Amino acid sequence: MAARIRRLPPETASRIAAGEVIERPLSALKELVENALDAGARSIEVRVERALDAQFSVADDGAGIAADELELALERHATSKLASVEELDRLGTLGFRGEALPSIAAVSRMKLVSRPAVAEAAAFVRVEGGEVVERGPAARASGTTVEVRDLFHNTPARRKFLNSPTGELRAALRMVESYALARPGTGWRFVVDGRERFAWGPAASHRERAAQVWGASHAEQLLESSLQRGGYVVSTLLGLPEHARATREGQVLLVNGRWVQSPALSQALRHAYGNLLPTGRFPAAVVWLTVPPDRLDVNVHPTKREVRFADEDTVFSLVAAACAQPLATIHPPFAVVGGVSSGGGGRAASEASGMSTWPDRVREGSGPSGGGQMPLLLPVAGGDPRAELSSAFAAPSPVTVPAPVLPEPADAAPREGEIWQLHRTYILAPVRDGLVIVDQHAAHERILFEEALERLRGVRAASQGLLFPALVDLPRSRFELLLEVGEHLKQLGWDVMAMSPPTVVIRGVPGAFRIEQPGHLLEQVLDGIVERGPTAQDQLLERVAASHACHTAIRAGDPLSPEAMRRLVDRLFATSLPHGDPHGRPTFVRLELSDLHRRFGR
Ligand code: ADP
Ligand code: MG
Repeated sequence: MAARIRRLPPETASRIAAGEVIERPLSALKELVENALDAGARSIEVRVERALDAQFSVADDGAGIAADELELALERHATSKLASVEELDRLGTLGFRGEALPSIAAVSRMKLVSRPAVAEAAAFVRVEGGEVVERGPAARASGTTVEVRDLFHNTPARRKFLNSPTGELRAALRMVESYALARPGTGWRFVVDGRERFAWGPAASHRERAAQVWGASHAEQLLESSLQRGGYVVSTLLGLPEHARATREGQVLLVNGRWVQSPALSQALRHAYGNLLPTGRFPAAVVWLTVPPDRLDVNVHPTKREVRFADEDTVFSLVAAACAQPLATIHPPFAVVGGVSSGGGGRAASEASGMSTWPDRVREGSGPSGGGQMPLLLPVAGGDPRAELSSAFAAPSPVTVPAPVLPEPADAAPREGEIWQLHRTYILAPVRDGLVIVDQHAAHERILFEEALERLRGVRAASQGLLFPALVDLPRSRFELLLEVGEHLKQLGWDVMAMSPPTVVIRGVPGAFRIEQPGHLLEQVLDGIVERGPTAQDQLLERVAASHACHTAIRAGDPLSPEAMRRLVDRLFATSLPHGDPHGRPTFVRLELSDLHRRFGR
């Protein structure tokens, strides 16, 4: 028998509806912050206890709510921001549905205290599970405080699906940082368990706000750009390639003052960075985009995190074009250790030297076939004492613009103590403002990969003849593959001939490698080429190069002499993409001196 249809009691219905808007504590806090901004607040204080689990509140100095409207504000679809549906097309506020306060009130214990500037006194209401339980006068300067306790106490099922509290706190910090970036003119204070996490006065510019959020030395390195077309205006602060992340977390996207997620914007950013980044890395950036309100639909998602552009192509090309310009000036940010006076900042030094010429000089001196007196190229680091606070640009740490590359004296012997190997896996190299830690295998892979690609497209590599040619029986499928890629392998220095299947004879192997079991290595390289499914012809060269690099690179566990390490680091930073190996894993990380100083309380 079919179940009968019944109307849900209002209390149940409102709790279900609340779940749409308030999916997690972060969404409730975000709504409160948006309300404060809509009220024209010049200063906003967010307090959080036990990572939003126990309670949180937002206090502002905005327009306030009249005492006799407090309860109306808590009614579903009651809003002061929208009078008719047409107004959605010229929306100037973040809120418009009148749903947030009632939704939060339905699933928490809430206290609302407010006083409009013109009112003589403040008033409050207390609500539990959507019911007003207390009201009365209160003391407060003009503005509004909304305090939320025990969120989801009456919806245990939802509670169970919540994030870890620390994850929620991190998300909350990121949200407030994002809105702080969206509104530089607003002052912010964030208090966690009674302790001030940050307090930022109003900032005069995007960069000044970025300096408050991420620290001055970091903000200095962000590349700035802006562009205007028709009613569209974009302005950006772009992170250097080494700020890139494996996720989009480093991106703050702001559209008409609203913090959003937008695949279209993310793609435009990624597009602009082009091959400055390996695949799988996402640039860190802040994008402020203004679009004509009637070309933007903000009403597509319950939590309003997603928006829809009427002219997505326009937005894409505008943002990509705006970013492309400053990115074209990026060079790998490395400089010689010891060659530059330590007093000069990277920026001043590079300006003096005309940095446009330096990448060529790097490649010249440090190509794979170069001699033994390469300049040691190392990063110039910049510190960010507040890196831990930063959720968007947290790791790896920032880098300054390039300083000039000065070759070391030709007779310079590797100096003792300047470079170390750790656990036969990492190379530690001091740089002016800290230390870089290089993964020796990943670094070598990147070097060999680029070298191999060049070989595959150009001059054949030298081969070292084997004293005793090796006869190897390959599995059938590998034998077939060898027939297909044999020419490419020859370019890389292999001297291999197919005999009658499945036997091949190896007469020479790529130069410069100590290869004990050529047959085994050849098989591994062939395996590597097919590892990721069928081979599209256009990717074949890259795959051959990647597999060759992976299997012939030095491994973790190989001991290295100081000269070998210097050479490796040097060659790494002469590649076109030193930040990642061909699989997109990082090749090095950086420890800032300023960070160490901070940790030791200096
Ligand atoms: P919306 O923001 O969509 O209008 P809300 O439920 O978030 O809906 O808020 C309902 C109404 O309460 C708002 O329209 C506004 O008039 C009032 N309000 C909420 N928060 C504040 C605040 N911090 N300062 C002033 N008014 C507020
Ligand atoms: Mg609202």
